[in-house]
Amino acid sequence: MDYYHPADMLPDVGDPDYEKKILLLRREREELNSVHQALWRLDNGVFGVCESCGDDIAMDRLMAIPYTKFCVACSDRKEHERQLQGNFRSRMDPTAEGSP
Ligand SMILES: [Zn+2]
Repeated sequence: MDYYHPADMLPDVGDPDYEKKILLLRREREELNSVHQALWRLDNGVFGVCESCGDDIAMDRLMAIPYTKFCVACSDRKEHERQLQGNFRSRMDPTAEGSP
């Protein structure tokens, strides 16, 4: 198995896809963190329990996203809240990401 130093994964600053590659690396790091958190929940007997409402997360959701922390209802609510915050931010600052 090959091992890479994290710095080896970084794109060159002059790379035309620099921003895109940094974004992908950031998403991969977030996904890896989520997997580590799911392993912690497994070790501590709370895997499959929604961190927001405490209900069991549906098995089909866990099969699709094994590292999810939230049930469908809480995940949808959080996504809706995130979109509202994004709309509010773009109204306050038209240069913000997500503005039309
Ligand atoms: Zn929930």
